Amino acid sequence: MQSQQPGRAERMRLILTRDGPTCAWCGLDVSGRVPATTDHLVPRVKGGPSWLENEVAACRRCNRLRGHTSPADWLAECLRRGWPADAERVSRVLLALESAIAERGGQRRARAYLDAQLRRVAKR
Ligand SMILES: [Zn+2]
Repeated sequence: MQSQQPGRAERMRLILTRDGPTCAWCGLDVSGRVPATTDHLVPRVKGGPSWLENEVAACRRCNRLRGHTSPADWLAECLRRGWPADAERVSRVLLALESAIAERGGQRRARAYLDAQLRRVAKR
C-alpha cells in the first residue's frame, strides 16, 4: 500500500516544523542562508521510503559526507568529530518510521535494516 505523502517542498516544511530548523548532524541553522536538504535515515539504496517518517533535515555538507552510512554509524562518527548530532531526533524519527511501516505495510527491505538500527540507537 502506498502512503499519500506531501510533495518534497511541503515535506521539508513539515520536517523543519517537527524537528526545528537545524541540521540533524552538525546543528547548523538550515532556515536561512544554508539550505536544508532531505536526508533519508534508512538510505534509499537500503529501501528507505521517501516518507516524512524516514526523513530529517541536513545541511548539504553533512548529507554528502554521510552518503549511505547507517544512522547509528554516522551518529558515532559525528560524535567522534565533536559535532552536536541530535541522537534523540534520530531515535524519535526511526521509531516513527517503525510505526508507519507497521501501519502501512510493505517496506520489507527497509524494515530489516531499521530493526538493526533501532537496536543500536533507539531509546524505548
Ligand atoms: Zn550539517
